[in-house]
Amino acid sequence: MTANLLDFDLEGLIAFCERLGEKRFRATQLFRWIHQKGASDFGQMTDLAKPLREKLVSSAHVAPLQMVSRHESADGTVKWLFDVGGGDVIETVFIPETDRGTLCISSQAGCAVGCRFCSTGHQGFSRNLTTGEIIAQLWYAEHFLRQYLGRQERVISNVVMMGMGEPLQNYSQLVPALKVMLDDHGYGLSRRRVTVSTSGVVPMIDRLAADCPVALAVSLHAPTDDLRDNLVPLNKKYPIAELLQACTRYQASAPRDFITFEYCMLDGVNDQPQHARELVALVNAQRAGGLSCKFNLIPFNPFPASGLKRSAMPQVMAFAKILMDAGIVTTVRKTRGDDIDAACGQLAGDVQDRTDVDKRMAAQRQGMLGGIKVVVTKGIEV
Ligand code: SAH
Ligand code: SF4
Repeated sequence: MTANLLDFDLEGLIAFCERLGEKRFRATQLFRWIHQKGASDFGQMTDLAKPLREKLVSSAHVAPLQMVSRHESADGTVKWLFDVGGGDVIETVFIPETDRGTLCISSQAGCAVGCRFCSTGHQGFSRNLTTGEIIAQLWYAEHFLRQYLGRQERVISNVVMMGMGEPLQNYSQLVPALKVMLDDHGYGLSRRRVTVSTSGVVPMIDRLAADCPVALAVSLHAPTDDLRDNLVPLNKKYPIAELLQACTRYQASAPRDFITFEYCMLDGVNDQPQHARELVALVNAQRAGGLSCKFNLIPFNPFPASGLKRSAMPQVMAFAKILMDAGIVTTVRKTRGDDIDAACGQLAGDVQDRTDVDKRMAAQRQGMLGGIKVVVTKGIEV
């Protein structure tokens, strides 16, 4: 079997090219062809010497994902489903906004963490994606969108690892993919614009800080261990105090000066004023130790097997107010895409933007993709 070049970060590709007897700068050229130009056909790579192109044809390939479907919403959001074999399907979502384009990427087929409110968690774990499968989502989306929108320049400015799966439980495949995203010869994204979202794999938060610090979002969802044990089973292994300490440590290397806490609002479960007050106490205790954070409240996207309900908006706003009154920056994601059953967090936008959401959507309708149907977005606020 030949090597899938999407599996390599630049260092990996350099090592691969060296094994073929080629110099480092050839690897850089090849890397740019693949990631910056979206090329997969070595014959196209005209500034590579013919003998190298021939060696590549016999030893390497660029493996795209098999697209199952693409849905576009009226507001320009695009969702792709990709078949990754063995009956597994993953999703990737593009969310255009006036000042950025965010891609939400999956890291695993299914997820082993098994959060109660998450449809991916209910599916169970199937397998880790390879680096090539993680980066292929960006490779495909970026080059598809450039062509589709007739743009020469970059379309995707932000990436969030908020699709299916727990990225920090697929660490060894994740990190090279992050490096490709950040590499100036790759996608050249700033560390601040690449976000890893985690349910709290504490040792891997520390490793990420050392290996590839990017923006961090932590799915908190509860102010106490009793409640979080129930919602996010990983909490039994890495309880809240340990998690928050890891967040504080992470800040020393983080590209942003705050950690985002995601909090899925579940009716009658974790959305009471008492929970908000407990969160304030929790954050205040950590602030003294140097933690700086903001909260992103996510109205729950219901699915039948969960047995859970979305908190009513007044409840969410009352909750947000308690946090904000305590000086904690808090945003509320606007829900979209209730009309189809997708994986986690089908949400986007934040409440502070509401005033001109209609204007933005109209502009996007004109400038972006023609509206078919189906609205699915991932909740990103980066
Ligand atoms: N596994 C990682 C990243 C993927 S989930 C994590 O848990 O952080 C991305 C976000 O979607 C998480 O904050 C998750 O809690 C949230 N989410 C999952 N299911 C959801 C649902 N049904 N409604 C709203 N948000 C959900
Ligand atoms: Fe996995 Fe994240 Fe879903 Fe929890 S919320 S089951 S960690 S994907």
